[in-house]
Amino acid sequence: MAKGLPSFTCTACGAVHRKWSGRCDACGAWNSIIEEAPLAAGPSGKTLGGAKGRQIEVTTLATTETPPKRAPSGMDELDRVLGGGLVPASAILVGGDPGIGKSTLLLQATASFARAGLSCLYVSGEEASAQVRMRAARLGLADAPVQLAAETNLRDILTTLDALRPDLAIIDSIQTMWADHVEAAPGSVSQVRSAAHELVTFAKKRGTSVILVGHVTKDGQIAGPRVVEHMVDTVLYFEGERGHQFRILRAVKNRFGPADEIGVFEMTGAGLAEVANPSALFLSERGQASPGSAVFAGIEGTRPVLTEIQALVAPSTLGTPRRTVVGLDSGRLSTILAVLEARCGIPFAGLDVFLNVAGGMRVSEPAADLAVAAALLSAREDVALPPDMVIFGEISLSGALRPVGQTENRLKEARKLGFSQAVAPEQSKTGGDDGMRVRKMPDLTTFVGDMFAAG
Ligand SMILES: [Zn+2]
Repeated sequence: MAKGLPSFTCTACGAVHRKWSGRCDACGAWNSIIEEAPLAAGPSGKTLGGAKGRQIEVTTLATTETPPKRAPSGMDELDRVLGGGLVPASAILVGGDPGIGKSTLLLQATASFARAGLSCLYVSGEEASAQVRMRAARLGLADAPVQLAAETNLRDILTTLDALRPDLAIIDSIQTMWADHVEAAPGSVSQVRSAAHELVTFAKKRGTSVILVGHVTKDGQIAGPRVVEHMVDTVLYFEGERGHQFRILRAVKNRFGPADEIGVFEMTGAGLAEVANPSALFLSERGQASPGSAVFAGIEGTRPVLTEIQALVAPSTLGTPRRTVVGLDSGRLSTILAVLEARCGIPFAGLDVFLNVAGGMRVSEPAADLAVAAALLSAREDVALPPDMVIFGEISLSGALRPVGQTENRLKEARKLGFSQAVAPEQSKTGGDDGMRVRKMPDLTTFVGDMFAAG
């Protein structure tokens, strides 16, 4: 792009466009493209030239390097999501909707790390120190040896970090940081990127771990956390419905541990409490066996989690019936409805379908297909499924049931919670008698015939 021309950047994903448009081609977000001052002198025809650099050191693949030493916080749910604790010199992004409890989580985490012996600096760009202190007092953390600063000037923050050399620095939030070498407002894509770049570089050079807080933004005026995801080692998202007290910390990228790992918390008056047994929590609202409810034995990261899938099917008054989905992929629902109609002859035309995962959980595993189908059929036929039954299996377009991974773990968790029967795809590997009656089915038609007798 020629120097001096305005550039248009998507605040959701950071893609640069030649002109403004209502929708970003790169990520599909609406109204997210804003005009930004051009970035300072790009490559503009210059090459590296003949000047010599420093020769870098090369090694072999067989180098014996000890795995990074991790510092556990003592908060098990957080340590699990990090892959077993905090890795020194790592850069972590914690994203989430404003007001979901990111600052509470991070203040509690910082206090835990500080009590575990790490030197920690909490930099708040959102609130005054007094407000952070008030929150700490409310959470019972006032005695934790955390150093606190309220600042947004990146240069001053980096100078302070260089002088104090803490083990861990929290930047709350990256959107409030202001780098004086970038001519753009705080929160713009270029500011957020440069601030993240400087802080990540500092982390790598000086061995300080850095946690960046990023608000997920809706209106497109402020850059979202996605624009810095590629710069950091670990990306965590803090999720939850406002109306529910459950919060889920999910690893979507982790260079030092498994992605897709989740930590479950409950928002209480005294802050976030860890939930060691999420299945029990997600099923706690379950009452009497009722039509439209099916229990899915899922796997989140390395841990089995049971969730209740709820469906409601009602005659529609609309030309195009409603398909409302919460906590599941709506494309997946369409596929399952199409397979039910084409392979089993059960039409959902003229019926409104509402599908929901109880407790505010989000399920993305294809293994949930069969539980979704079971909930839909149970709602449509007005027949309740046995209350002690868990269901899992992927549905292919042919209507066949595909086996899914970690069958044993799913069944073990179900048994632990008092379930005594399961429906699984035919080729699932089970370890024989483990107190569970496992019904293995080859396809969806068999399942329908077996469970609902009506074809
Ligand atoms: Zn975009």
